[in-house]
Amino acid sequence: MRILLKLSGEALAGDKKTGFDEETVRKVALQVKQLVDKGTQVGIVIGGGNFWRGRTSENIDRVKADQIGMLATIMNCIYVSEIFRSEGMMTNILTPFECGSFTKLFSKDRANKYFARNMVVFFAGGTGHPYFSTDTGVVLRAIEVEADYILLAKAVDGVYDSDPAKNPDAKRYDTVSIDEVIAENLQVVDMTASILARDNNVPMRVFALQEENSIVNAASGKFNGTTVTTRV
Ligand code: UDP
Repeated sequence: MRILLKLSGEALAGDKKTGFDEETVRKVALQVKQLVDKGTQVGIVIGGGNFWRGRTSENIDRVKADQIGMLATIMNCIYVSEIFRSEGMMTNILTPFECGSFTKLFSKDRANKYFARNMVVFFAGGTGHPYFSTDTGVVLRAIEVEADYILLAKAVDGVYDSDPAKNPDAKRYDTVSIDEVIAENLQVVDMTASILARDNNVPMRVFALQEENSIVNAASGKFNGTTVTTRV
């Protein structure tokens, strides 16, 4: 079994909203370790919102702003990778562009080699291109490395028919198809990533990162959250 776990940048910051919250990251590490110890191959994609978002920077060129965002995702992966190592896991960080000796250049073969050695593989730097997101990055890498599904750890515990923070009657889906996600513009991953997931049959499981043991539960299939299905 090979899965990719997507964490938002904000998730790493815990209540602080920016930077890192070590306790939050350690909880993630301990759960991923349980999966790896059982033989699951785990890849990780992390956003950058705890440091920077390209599209919200008003006065600088978008391409440059997005480059800063991609670099933020690499900082996040280096940090999380080190916490994982301190919990006894082996890790490697792959990026779509050269970062000297900080990371290694992504290729499918290289990722496969690390997975085969039971390493956790971090896919940092998003797609390597501006105007994309780490949502698209995680779906793209899931397709390339032939992952079985994506685990989307979020602030909310699944996919709702409207924003649960604004609408107390919002209904949560146990299961929803990617076609419905796209048609109704439901908040799962952004539209570019949704279409890529639909066209290449990448299922996703959405759950709340803050819930105890939620990553392990989601990986087992019995979890509090929503399964996003693709073509049956
Ligand atoms: N980013 C990019 N290309 C990618 C992935 C990320 O340009 O393939 C940049 C973009 O500026 C984005 C930032 O990195 O705002 C952080 O990524 P994340 O996916 O967390 O963005 P968010 O959706 O939170 O803005």
